[in-house]
Amino acid sequence: MQTALEFYEIVAGWVGWPPLVIVIVAAGTYLLKISHVRYKAARETIETLKEKNTWLDLKLQNAIASSPDALARALEARVRQLTDELERMVADREATDQEITRKREELAAAQARRDELADLFDELRRLLVQDGLLCPECGSPLETREHHYESVEWKGREIDVVREVAAYGCGLLMVDGRVEQPCRSESRY
Ligand SMILES: [Zn+2]
Repeated sequence: MQTALEFYEIVAGWVGWPPLVIVIVAAGTYLLKISHVRYKAARETIETLKEKNTWLDLKLQNAIASSPDALARALEARVRQLTDELERMVADREATDQEITRKREELAAAQARRDELADLFDELRRLLVQDGLLCPECGSPLETREHHYESVEWKGREIDVVREVAAYGCGLLMVDGRVEQPCRSESRY
């Protein structure tokens, strides 16, 4: 394998050393400049990505902060808006068949998204109720779940039992899975 120096010696044999040195110095300066530009671009990309991350974090926080109801309402509003637009297009008789078909597809997609979200919430609610994290009547969240130790008499002996006491925001109180105080909320699923 040829070393770089051997390669330069061969080239110097053709053109002489002075022009070659000039070319090597120029190339070196050029490479340094390029690497500096690349470094600057990389730094700028990192800064942009950092900004983007902060922005995405904020978006995510907003999404989490907005309740599922708000999301469902937004999708419902979108479906209504598209339905109105479609009805107007049909009534005006100015839109082409292609435009109407496109609007119909847009509406069908929005309806599908809304239904998917509704199914997802139903499933999520079912799982949360199953885990005792929501009141099964009104969906109010679990506030406290404590374990109380009690001594009871059983077959002439005193034994310790653990009671699970779960209290919900709506007043529902469950002890060992039985209703001790009912849900007082007006809202129902
Ligand atoms: Zn309740």
